[in-house]
Amino acid sequence: MGIKIYNTFTSQKEDFIPLEPDRVGFYLCGPTVYDYFHLGNARPFIVFDVYRRFLIYRGFQVKYVMNVTDVDDKIINRAQKEGVSVAEIAARYTQAFFEDMEKLGIHRADVHPKATEHIPEMIELIQKLLEKGYAYKIGGDVYFQVEKFRKYGRLSGKNLEELKAGARVEVDERKRNPLDFALWKAAKAGEPCWESPWGKGRPGWHIECSAMSMKYLGETFDIHAGGEDLIFPHHENEIAQSCAATSKKFARYWMHNGFLNIQGEKMSKSLGNFLIAREVVKRHRPEVIRLFFLQKHYRSPINYTEEILRQTANALDRLQNTLQNIEYYLKDSPQGTDVAHDQIQQGSEFSRLVQYSKREFIKAMEDDFNSAAAIGKIFEMAKEANRIMEKGELSKVDQFALADFRRMLLEYDQFLGILPGKDGLKKGEGDEDALVALLVQVREELRKKKEWSLADRIRNKLKELGYIIEDRREGSVWYKV
Ligand code: AMP
Ligand code: ZN
Repeated sequence: MGIKIYNTFTSQKEDFIPLEPDRVGFYLCGPTVYDYFHLGNARPFIVFDVYRRFLIYRGFQVKYVMNVTDVDDKIINRAQKEGVSVAEIAARYTQAFFEDMEKLGIHRADVHPKATEHIPEMIELIQKLLEKGYAYKIGGDVYFQVEKFRKYGRLSGKNLEELKAGARVEVDERKRNPLDFALWKAAKAGEPCWESPWGKGRPGWHIECSAMSMKYLGETFDIHAGGEDLIFPHHENEIAQSCAATSKKFARYWMHNGFLNIQGEKMSKSLGNFLIAREVVKRHRPEVIRLFFLQKHYRSPINYTEEILRQTANALDRLQNTLQNIEYYLKDSPQGTDVAHDQIQQGSEFSRLVQYSKREFIKAMEDDFNSAAAIGKIFEMAKEANRIMEKGELSKVDQFALADFRRMLLEYDQFLGILPGKDGLKKGEGDEDALVALLVQVREELRKKKEWSLADRIRNKLKELGYIIEDRREGSVWYKV
């Protein structure tokens, strides 16, 4: 089976056939750098980076482009409020954006084009639209005339009348249609501006993405992604401008992630209900935040609560413990090499599960990047791995399968990035932590004196309370379930 992608443009899951075999051009709308990005913004940044890395894992050569919008009303407002230059605000939050991406384990794109460094490309595009009669000038402003573009509304699945009724567009008597949008805005005092054939001014937001995506990926490219709030008007306008200018198809597959909600509402700057990603990553490991997003389908809404993040952290700890246990077992008994061929052929229940789940994992990822289902497979295998390790006495085949499971996890983590760092097992909190540690120490002493029954009683009692002790060669370790 090949890869399938749900294409917003056709409202269908489609076979993914890149324009050029084995090569993928992938564009993600990046941040507007006027503040730190919030946890909602982190969703597309994380999930689309994982999908791009999955495509690479599957053998595609991916060119991934993510813009930085560094000239915009919001940046200008912030600069005015702080009494500093627009460039200073943009530089500060561009740097913060890269720092936060790194903190969240998001790989850099191949190109991060900045809007301010692509003004000539935007001017050229606007020029073309004027020449072809899709745009008109009013004073120093240039507008795109939506009625001239027959397919306007295709992406959002609405016609012009419906869009007009639903849109909150600024009333500007000079525009021919309220939905007409600015390609170029005439300079205002105190705002950054550039020379153009229509006088000094700055580009509109939509033209930035058209110009930069086409510059780096070609006039027609494979995947264009962003949050679902960008479908209208941003992506609708990108399509109109680009197709009108080139008379060619623009992006071939449109992918949109669902919202991160908080108390039933979209997390957003304007509603004020947001959590800054760099603050959240101080409380929760990046792997936890990544798993939090990846364990849900990217098109579904996700609800944020601290409790869900804590549960996610627990699930991740269990997975980490499973991995450590596997390593412990395999260290004790060098596996694999001496497993008889017919034993492997025959397999065990666990080895069959690993083989099956491996295939199912890839199938899920190929099916519109269903990381939720894929990760579900990992947890099923981990549960079963724990069960057979608890039983003790592992057959050679099971050891072989455990090693296979471990290898597979590490391999998939090349794109998932959810395997915890090396910060050890999960502990309880504060005083509780110290008490359990003391009991574990006492038990160690008892074991040295061969007082097995008392040692076992302590271990069993702690297990009832949710603390697991594991005896290892280097001593006992414990963690909370
Ligand atoms: P912005 O900087 O507001 O343009 O947003 C950057 C990216 O984050 C865009 O792709 C948005 O669609 C996306 N985004 C914004 N808010 C949310 C949210 N609450 N949940 C998911 N994605 C979001
Ligand atoms: Zn964009």
